[in-house]
Amino acid sequence: MWPAFRELMDQFNEAVVVSDKNHRIGGHNTARFRRALERQVRKWADDPNSGFFAVSFLDLVRFRAINDSFGYAASDRLLAEVASLISDSLDSTDMLARFGADHYAILIRSRQNSDQAEALVRKILRNLDREFQLGDCRVKLSARAGLAAAQGMESSSDSILRDADGAHQQARLTRESLVVSHHPQSKKSIVQASLEFDLANALEKDEFFFEFQPVFNPATGRVRFLEALLRWCHPRLGIISPVAFISLAEDSGLVLKLDMQGLGRLGRQLDQWHAQYPSMVGVPVSINISGRHFPNFVMEKQFHSLLRQPSLQRSRIIFEITESVFVEGNRKTSQGLQRLRNAGVQIWLDDFGEGFSSFRYLTHFPIDGIKIASCFTRHCAEQAKSRVVLSSLQSLARGLGIEAVVEGVETCEQFNALRTMGFDALQGYYLARPMPAADIPTLFDGVPGPRLAMPRSA
Ligand code: C2E
Ligand code: CA
Repeated sequence: MWPAFRELMDQFNEAVVVSDKNHRIGGHNTARFRRALERQVRKWADDPNSGFFAVSFLDLVRFRAINDSFGYAASDRLLAEVASLISDSLDSTDMLARFGADHYAILIRSRQNSDQAEALVRKILRNLDREFQLGDCRVKLSARAGLAAAQGMESSSDSILRDADGAHQQARLTRESLVVSHHPQSKKSIVQASLEFDLANALEKDEFFFEFQPVFNPATGRVRFLEALLRWCHPRLGIISPVAFISLAEDSGLVLKLDMQGLGRLGRQLDQWHAQYPSMVGVPVSINISGRHFPNFVMEKQFHSLLRQPSLQRSRIIFEITESVFVEGNRKTSQGLQRLRNAGVQIWLDDFGEGFSSFRYLTHFPIDGIKIASCFTRHCAEQAKSRVVLSSLQSLARGLGIEAVVEGVETCEQFNALRTMGFDALQGYYLARPMPAADIPTLFDGVPGPRLAMPRSA
């Protein structure tokens, strides 16, 4: 039994609430869920034609941040509303249990096969993908789920729960809304579940390093700044992209430590560059900081003491933060960001335009720049509409007196279109892929070595 599954079983044994079709939420122990599942498995073992059943695990994306921002009372009301919304889609034969903070388990008995069970879970996910009222604010919620059905005569309640949990872990890792377990106890899900365990270990051993991707000024061909992108050098699995582990680190809270370690690592890297290549002194460097640090910036003191490192002081450090956890009017977030700015950090909004309500953040939070999401770049060469959106964002940034970078420039046509539009900071594979720290000095004057062929023509 791998650690995450053992923990899940423990949670089941002390679980909190069960609701059923009659919307009774509270008062029941999820041991009842477990007993119902066991009964179902026994019935099915006696007679495989006794009826299809499946288990789905579901949790809420970013619930921890909502809990931190709004407090327990409001979050509990939200959870009750969520349970009631899920329950609305279920039949009287189905059963819903809540365990842990924001985790739910559904025993599906009202459907005939996997496809129908999947359709039911997708319907529940659609219902939850909306804004909820919390006090004066509206908070966008979404959920992720895993689904597993009994897979053969050897199925037991444990194996079904384990498959559903494995599928759910996979959904959390890949950020898919639903993963259906087709291969019980597949190697992949075991590997992924064990990643969470490895991650804590990796932090202790610091198995991480940065690659750097330059952002160019297309008019001059010079580097505007460098973005530090994290890589995990896993002892068995090799180099792992942050896409595979950041959401896991965020869910487990480890991202706070991960980002803080990152800032220390960046300081050391800058020290080394500055000592060897004086032309690199003063080159701004950006680092991605998870929105999980806000609004209760629990590691604020440590961040501020790291920011006092001379190398970080010499470089204009940029924090790239996604808009996803900004909640309108949250003064704590705003004040924390302002304190960072006072310490010399620039705050940029990452993947701007990809989420929701982005414009409000520009007026509510102290922001120095935006990184325009690559979804606008994708069709900018051939679609006039994309260019209209891009130039509106450009004038918006200019009007607000903030900077703008366009991300995801992959082709010469996109590069030329954006350059013609007058963007002065572009980033993307066409210009340069993320590269090892050792190759970065070659981008700067006076450093021997290969030079990037910077596209020039319009
Ligand atoms: P992001 O901040 O949006 O970073 C840009 C991602 O897009 C990088 O992926 C980069 O390699 C990729 N990219 C750059 N140019 C192109 C392009 O032209 N086309 C395409 N398709 N992709 C391009 P990467 O390195 O896998 O990073 C993924 C995400 O992980 C980042 O997205 C960022 O949100 C997060 N991340 C990276 N490093 C850190 C870190 O140190 N801390 C935290 N909390 N998150 C990090
Ligand atoms: Ca970024």
